[in-house]
Amino acid sequence: MSFSPCNAGLSGPMSTAAGAIDNQREGSFAALGNVFLTRLPAAPLPAPYVVGFAPDVATMLGFDASLASAPGFAEFFSGNTTRDWPSASLPYASVYSGHQFGVWAGQLGDGRALTLGEAEHDGRRFELQLKGGGRTPYSRMGDGRAVLRSSIREYLCSEAMHHLGIPTTRALCVIGSDQPVRREEMETAAVVTRVSPSFVRFGHFEHFYANDRVDALRSLADHVIDRFYPACRDAEDPYLALLNEAVLSTADLIAQWQGVGFCHGVMNTDNMSILGLTIDYGPFGFMDGFDANHICNHSDSQGRYAYRMQPQIAYWNLFCLAQGLLPLFGARYGEAERSERAVQDAQRVLEGFKARFAPALEARMRAKLGLETEREGDDTLANKLFEIMHANRADFTLTFRNLSKLSKHDASGDAPARDLFLDRAAFDVWANDYRARLSHETRDDAARAEAMNRVNPKYVLRNHLAENAIRQAKEKDFSEVERLADVLRRPFDEQPEHEAYAGLPPDWASSLEVSCSS
Ligand code: AMP
Ligand code: MG
Repeated sequence: MSFSPCNAGLSGPMSTAAGAIDNQREGSFAALGNVFLTRLPAAPLPAPYVVGFAPDVATMLGFDASLASAPGFAEFFSGNTTRDWPSASLPYASVYSGHQFGVWAGQLGDGRALTLGEAEHDGRRFELQLKGGGRTPYSRMGDGRAVLRSSIREYLCSEAMHHLGIPTTRALCVIGSDQPVRREEMETAAVVTRVSPSFVRFGHFEHFYANDRVDALRSLADHVIDRFYPACRDAEDPYLALLNEAVLSTADLIAQWQGVGFCHGVMNTDNMSILGLTIDYGPFGFMDGFDANHICNHSDSQGRYAYRMQPQIAYWNLFCLAQGLLPLFGARYGEAERSERAVQDAQRVLEGFKARFAPALEARMRAKLGLETEREGDDTLANKLFEIMHANRADFTLTFRNLSKLSKHDASGDAPARDLFLDRAAFDVWANDYRARLSHETRDDAARAEAMNRVNPKYVLRNHLAENAIRQAKEKDFSEVERLADVLRRPFDEQPEHEAYAGLPPDWASSLEVSCSS
């Protein structure tokens, strides 16, 4: 067993886990140095307790799957032991900037996130980050804390997204405390341990660009290339190739979000991962009744981050990233022409977003409709479905799930989807078009249904499900958090014992409001 200052005082599996976390290793973000981060201990969290724990994330990190019951677990992942760590290996908060709601916001940074370090397992390296660990030099007016409500939402959603097959940061655990935290009302504090290969955001690049630190900008880009996109080194312009990777992974990500009716809620450039991961779960939401204009963030009065806006906002954000990387582009050109050609190159790479996103979404829609072949008019069929879903506020998840029951031969299996539409006649018109389209497919109904059920989830983290788990957790009963997390680990499976989790939301769900205040 290794001894690291981080595991001093711990024993058993917790000591092994803590000892595996390293925050000085060569090639790590931490090794980039002081320009990028500030090291500091977490603020003490009184009497911490375990609210949620994901054994599969523990295993991914090479930790014991029963770690949560090991002595010292809650103390460690509340950040409480960090006050005893030597100064050179303290956790760190990183500095970044960003555009918030379309406006340059200047310096932001990890105002309440502290990275403990990296763990390596099976040749993969992951950073572990405490969210809600107290104030940092980047906290501005904030208290550095996260509340139990938002921490449970982040924990549940990051795990749910992963099991839906959507790129995301993960969550190892949620630790709670009775420490009061003031939001719109008094709540209590919690800390989520997030896990990701990297937490680098578009905003990190924007920061060093805005501060005219081209040296730091290059170090950061080199770090990301070396660690995550080594093939970019072979490109004519490695930094342009890095932009291209961000463009492609972001386009793929947004196509996935659109395909499950997920709204992020705060797509500011500081909340965009350079790896194309879903990051920073705040006022996110999975749609119940489909509304293309759905705004999940109560604070987003203009609807900038409405569901239908997400693709173009992602594109806009990539422009900001390209701008941030601009000083690095075009090293192969002569100085006289460099800046002009760099801009042209960047624009060309950015155009790749559209070329990637549209086919990615079309492919996703084809899979959701159970179409194996490509035919003229498939996009019209999908768009028409969205139109009637929107007009009827038909439930997003159930509509697609129930379409798998529809038969290509007759209307005998239409009811489960049809009943979600108030305007049955509109559904019937569409269903006939769909049946006509299915007649060109060789697959039989059963095989199509099986394939559709592997891409159209039955279980998503609906707001009211999270809310039920949160209400019980506030009463110190965490069983619903774990039950729900378990259901969401198998979103495509029929789980007859959990049918209630797949149902339409209760009336009270429509009055739930989520905002930036978390
Ligand atoms: P977000 O909207 O959650 O992405 O946060 C935007 C910025 O505000 C980031 O720099 C966060 O670290 C910071 N921030 C959000 N909430 C808090 C808080 N309670 N305390 C300190 N900083 C915060
Ligand atoms: Mg953020």
